[in-house]
Amino acid sequence: MKFKSAKINAFRTWGLLLTMVGMGLMIMGTAGIVFWGSAGKVFAGIGLVIGLIALMASMAIYFWAGMLSTSAVQVECPECHKLTKMLGKTDRCMFCHTILTTDPSQATITAEQLEAQQLKQ
Ligand SMILES: [Zn+2]
Repeated sequence: MKFKSAKINAFRTWGLLLTMVGMGLMIMGTAGIVFWGSAGKVFAGIGLVIGLIALMASMAIYFWAGMLSTSAVQVECPECHKLTKMLGKTDRCMFCHTILTTDPSQATITAEQLEAQQLKQ
């Protein structure tokens, strides 16, 4: 997975996506009963189970993101001068998506080099 956004924002996006998928599946599953009667019950059951799993997964992601954000470092972005939160040694600014780092050995390389390095890991 590769995101062109800050890690915390990426977590929120995935959490939201999973919530919507889960709710969508549960609604579709319920609609299956309405449209196909008893034949739709199997479809509804599968939809409800997968929907429930997706909702629980999204809750886990939200919980995890919440835990992570407590350990995030707040820094002022040198590009846009807004306060952003960093996870780990390198992260992107939440506002202008500039790559930020607290590691001095990575501070002199360009964003392209950093991405190439991250892909190798
Ligand atoms: Zn910025």
